[in-house]
Order: sequence, then C-alpha cells, then structure tokens
Amino acid sequence: MCSLRLILKDVYDDIKTNLTIFATFIRYLNMPKSILHCISCGAEYNSDPFRLTCDADHSPSLLRSVYRAEQLEVKPHLPGLFRYADWMPIERTLQTAGKPITYESKNLAHHLGLDRLFISFNGYYPEQGAQMLTGSFKELEAFSVLAGLPKNHPQTLVIASAGNTGRAFATVCSEHRIPLCLVIPEKNLSALWSKTSFDPVVSLIAVGDGGDYSDAIALGQLMSKLDGFFPEGGAANVARRDGMGLTVVDAAVTLGRIPDHYFQAVGSGTGGIAAWEANLRLLADGRFGEQRMKLHLAQNAPFAPMVEAWKAASRVLPAISEAEAKAAINQVSAQVLTNRNPAYSITGGLYEALVETQGEMYAVTNSASEQARHLFAELEGIDISPASGVALAALLQAVEAKKVDRRDYIMLNITSGGIERIKQDYSLHYLQPMITCSPAEANPREIAAQIEYHLQCS
Ligand SMILES: [Zn+2]
Repeated sequence: MCSLRLILKDVYDDIKTNLTIFATFIRYLNMPKSILHCISCGAEYNSDPFRLTCDADHSPSLLRSVYRAEQLEVKPHLPGLFRYADWMPIERTLQTAGKPITYESKNLAHHLGLDRLFISFNGYYPEQGAQMLTGSFKELEAFSVLAGLPKNHPQTLVIASAGNTGRAFATVCSEHRIPLCLVIPEKNLSALWSKTSFDPVVSLIAVGDGGDYSDAIALGQLMSKLDGFFPEGGAANVARRDGMGLTVVDAAVTLGRIPDHYFQAVGSGTGGIAAWEANLRLLADGRFGEQRMKLHLAQNAPFAPMVEAWKAASRVLPAISEAEAKAAINQVSAQVLTNRNPAYSITGGLYEALVETQGEMYAVTNSASEQARHLFAELEGIDISPASGVALAALLQAVEAKKVDRRDYIMLNITSGGIERIKQDYSLHYLQPMITCSPAEANPREIAAQIEYHLQCS
C-alpha cells in the first residue's frame, strides 16, 4: 500500500513537472520577439520602430532591445545580414547579399607582431566575400531600421547624414521604394552614389553656405516633426544600434568566442555602444565565453571631443563654441566622424560603455590615418576609408604602447572599405539635391511641401 502511494506520488510529480515545462513553453511562444527596455528606470515597452525614448520623467536614457531568443540561432538561408535576424528588431527581411565579413589577417598581423588579428570588413572586397555595395557598415543599420518599418508605411523617413549613412539609406530606400528625406551638408554630396540609379522616392536636401553635419541634423530634426514625416532617431534607435552590433556578432560566431579587444573609429559613438550591447547579448547567450571586450575607440584630430572628455575622466563633453568646432571639423579628413552632439553622456551611452569595458580612446591625425590606409592597402590588398584609417592608426598606437598582448584576440572594425574598388568595378550614379539651402534660411515647411508634391508626382 505504501509503495502504491509512492508510485502515485511519482506520477503526480511527473505530471506537475511536465505541466510546468509545457506552461513555460506556451509562455515563451506567446512572448513578443523583442521588447524595449529603458536602461535608466527599467520600464518595458512593446517593440515599436517609432519609439525612441522612455515615457518616464528622468534624464535622457537610451532604450535597449531585449530579445526572446537569448541564444542566437544563425539562419544562413536568410539573405545577407538577416542570418542574424534573431537579434534584429525586424518585421520582415529585405533582399541583400551584404553582411559583415570576419577574416583572420596574415600580412598586417605579421607586420604588427600579432598572432590573432581579425578584420571585420564592412564594404566591398569580393575576394573575401564582402558584398556591401554601399561600401560602409551603415548598410547594416539601414537594413535593420528599414526592415523594422511596416510595409507601405505612409510617412516619409527623415535622415540627416554626413555621407555614409545617407548613401546606405538612399540606396536601400531606392531599391525597396521606401520614401526618404535625406539631409546632408552640401560639401559632402560626392558621398551620395550608388551602382544603381536612385528612385524618385528619395528626396535630397543639401545644406549649403558652409553648413556642417550638425546643421544637417538640426534641419532634419525640424523636418521630422512635421506631419507626414518621422525621425530615424540616430543613436536612440535600437534598430540602428542592433544592426551595427552585428559586426561583433559575426566576429564572435566566426571565432567561436568574444574577442578581447575591439578597435573602431567613432563619430556619434553609436558603433561603440552597439559593440558593447552585442557583447552583452553574447555573454547572456553563454556559448561565447565570459569576455568583456575592451573598447578601443578613436576620433580624427583636431576634432576629438569624446577623446578629450574620456581622457579627463569626464562624463561631460568639453564646452566648445560652434565656431571653434566648425574650424576643427574643417581640418579632419574623416568627415563621417564629426558629429558635434554624440551619444556620449546619455544614460546607456558611450561613456558608460567605456567604463564597463575599461576602454581606451585615441586621437588620430590626418597623416596617421593616411599612413594607416596605405599600410592596409599594401598588406591586406584593398582600399579603406579615412575613418577606417583612423581605427587602424589607433591599433598601431595600442601596439606601440603595449596595450594589447600579441596572443590576444583582436577585432579591427573596418567600417568602410573597398570604395575605390567599387568605382573600378561599376559605373556609379550620383544623387542630385532637390533643394539646396543655407542653415539660417532653411524653411522646413516649404521643403516638406515640395517633397510631398514630388512624391505625388513620382
Ligand atoms: Zn525610463
């Protein structure tokens, strides 16, 4: 009798355990693919491509994606970067061959005396399988942001750019007929090219009269508040950051572990934050080690506000007049690194990422970047952009200062490369401005009316 009771108890326990597992499974199935988590107060929101901030009354904070799939399942049957769709806040996939490529350097590694140097190549390098035909890792964020928008959304996306971001969004929006208002400094217009012609859904506004990237951002913000338009949000957009972070995800999947060191040039700081957030996801996954990858981030001197702040152990950027900032910006060769309002101080921003990873920052001159670009072309066989030259020059500084060990796993993010090669292999189309205006005289409502008329006619 006693043994029967024990058997019944065992059966009862089994059923109870199985029911618990079943209930957990059902709850998992009902969980959304991702939610938004406020880093400051912990508030949670449903995934929403238009939400950029928390509703609570606190100082500015980034939101962060939390994905249902804590463990990444790579899906190689999906196009390009969408193989990492588990960790992208997307509604659908879009056709592309582009993804980050991670390969082990031989010649450059030997030159630097490093045993484990891995290049994350974002751009066009067909011999290594790199097929981002806008030549920049901004393509990762463009696909991530645009694949998160509802299909046939009636409003026009507004992007302000120094060049690379604009080229990536203009190309992907053209291919998929997604209305875009792009605002860019007139002096950077030559960055807007594509191997295919641009669709009329893309409207280009050039900020002339010496206007810089920050002037373009200011006009873009005004435009994005008008009826019929919406902002992309820059660093505040989780889709942008999660797209950029795929460089680290790809490196970890390729290496089978999180790298020890990460080198990148930064302008808005978004790429550095994204790398840190990808690191956190890989830690939670549990299969890539317990490494907190040290961030080594660089800016192009003499415009290096984040380097100055970090070296002064300050969360606050140095106060600098607009005239001084513009004078410094005009001297740097990597114009994509010249954001005057980077995501440095904000909760969840670059300052915190550097603190968490005991990071380093480097100021790199134009000539050091230029030498690094020549070195890369000579040893790795492909051209790289001025910003990527800044990243490599930072690695050269770190090796010189013995901040890395020769046996460490080092990831060098070449954020843009192969553009000269694209120009050799393809004939390019250049995007022409619909309107050119000075920063002081730009009238957002008039511009919006012209864009809407243009879209109706297209
Ligand atoms: Zn909050």
